Amino acid sequence: MDRIGGTARTILAAPSAPDAPAPQANMLPGVLIDGVQWTGHSGFRVTVGRATIYIDPYRVEAGPAADLILITHGHYDHFSPRDIERLAHPGTKLVAPAAVAERLAGDVTSIAPGEALEEDLVRGVGVRALAAYNTSKRDAAGDPFHAREAGWLGYELNVLGERLYHSGDTDVIPEMDGVAGVDVALLPVSGVYVMTAAEAAEAARRIAPRLAVPMHWGHHIGTRADALAFRRGVERSCGVEVRLMSPRADAGRSAPLYFRK
Ligand SMILES: [Zn+2]
Ligand SMILES: [Zn+2]
Repeated sequence: MDRIGGTARTILAAPSAPDAPAPQANMLPGVLIDGVQWTGHSGFRVTVGRATIYIDPYRVEAGPAADLILITHGHYDHFSPRDIERLAHPGTKLVAPAAVAERLAGDVTSIAPGEALEEDLVRGVGVRALAAYNTSKRDAAGDPFHAREAGWLGYELNVLGERLYHSGDTDVIPEMDGVAGVDVALLPVSGVYVMTAAEAAEAARRIAPRLAVPMHWGHHIGTRADALAFRRGVERSCGVEVRLMSPRADAGRSAPLYFRK
C-alpha cells in the first residue's frame, strides 16, 4: 500500500474513529422512521422486522394484520372496535388503559400512566405509558375533554433502541419532559380537544425530538393548514425537523410515505 492510498483510507475511516466528533444532534433518525406510517387521524402503523404494531387504528383501509395494537383512550376516533376486529388475529396482543381494556376480549394488557411493560410483547419493542390530559380544553360544562383522572395515555415505544412517542390526546403537560430527546414524536395539532398547532410547536420545542410528525388532522377535525402552522411554529422556535405524512400510502406500495410541501 503506497502512502497516498494509506492517507486516503485514513480520511475515509475518520468519521467512525473513536475520537471522531459525535453525530449532530439533529441528524435524521435511523431505521425507525422508515417503518412508521400514518394511517390517518391519530392512527399509525409501525413495522418492526416482520411484526406490525398499530396505535389508535381508525378507519384503516388496508394493511397487514396486527401483532400488537395500542389504544390511547376511549374516544371513538381512537378506540375503534371495528378497526381492531379487522386488523387483529387470534394472537394479537392488545394494550390499553383500564377503561378501554375492560371492553376488549383476547390477549389484553391494561396499563396506567407511568407504567412500563416488563416483557416485550413484540420482540425488540419496549412499551411505556405516559399521561395524556387537558389543561385548557374544556366542554360547555367546564369539564376537560380528557381528564387527568381518567388515566388515558400516550405511549413511548423503544424500537430496537430508537424511541417513538405518540402523545395521545393531550395538551402540553410536564410529563412530556419524560420523553425529551426521543427520535420521533407524533403530536396532535387540531386544537379544540387537544393542543393547537402553536401549542404542539411548544411541545416539540420542549421534547426536542429528532423528528416531529403532526397528527389528529385530516379527518373530521384539524386541517392541513393546522399541520403547516405547526411546521412553521416549530421552524420559528427550534431546529426540530417536521415531516407531514400522507395517509394515503399503504403498506403494499413503493410510493413515498410522506411529502414535505
Ligand atoms: Zn380524545
Ligand atoms: Zn382525538
